[in-house]
Amino acid sequence: MQKTVLVTGGSRGIGKEIAVRFAKAGYNVAVNYCSHEAEAVRTVNLLNTFGGAFRIDNVTAIRADVSDPDQVQSMFERIHGTFGGGVDILINNAGIAQQKLFSDISEQDWDRMFDVNVKGVFHCCQCALPHMIHRKAGKIINISSMWGQVGASCEVHYSASKAAVIGFTKALAKELGPSNIQVNCIAPGVISTDMNSHLDEETMESLRQDTPLERIGNVKDVASAVMFLASKEADFITGQILGVNGGMII
Ligand code: NAP
Repeated sequence: MQKTVLVTGGSRGIGKEIAVRFAKAGYNVAVNYCSHEAEAVRTVNLLNTFGGAFRIDNVTAIRADVSDPDQVQSMFERIHGTFGGGVDILINNAGIAQQKLFSDISEQDWDRMFDVNVKGVFHCCQCALPHMIHRKAGKIINISSMWGQVGASCEVHYSASKAAVIGFTKALAKELGPSNIQVNCIAPGVISTDMNSHLDEETMESLRQDTPLERIGNVKDVASAVMFLASKEADFITGQILGVNGGMII
């Protein structure tokens, strides 16, 4: 039976490229999104062009706010209804960011950041695990950030949420090892997506200069690391944090 992957936040940016790679590799792909439906539909239409007409319907877009447990539960039920099984590979990519002085961060800002970036990972893992544990196989890849490793000024809540994802990954990997489920994390550096579109040219240039490989990362850089961790080649790798940051954080 064809394997199923769920990419949360798969409609745009890094998640979209991850979805593209899995679609090209012949997986059933569930593309989750939250608010930009037109973008999600465009992504699904693109994915359905890979591999010829016989592949139509191997890709589906599902709206769910990952911070809401009921919506996440419904998303997994829809995946079951569409593809006839559970999720074999879970990519927890959906995330939000916000730049604010620490003193300006409201409790609502803090809660929203953690609800999406941390609780979203928690909800999706809880729904995905019964199927994976039953099969004694599965891969979970969480997208954190290098700022979760070293902290970013004016992004305390973002950095703290991404650090939480790193701790989550390490702990869950230990718990699920005996079930042959690998749980790993990717910590991207600066990647060119909508998330960074507010940064001016000067800031991007200075970030580029701070990067030993002397360029800003792109979505393909992250998707390639995801495909490796999702592959059989990575079967003995779990609980790891893989930096995809051009050497900025070592
Ligand atoms: P992006 O272009 O802003 O895309 C974010 C994606 O997440 C969109 O598909 C969005 O869906 C989805 N999303 C947001 N809130 C959601 C929610 N509550 N429920 C479900 N989906 C939600 O961001 P990106 O740059 O690709 O980032 C992807 C991941 O990489 C994030 O976790 C981010 O923190 C991490 N990351 C990014 C960078 C970077 O430099 N870009 C660096 C390090 C880590 P809608 O369009 O429907 O809202």
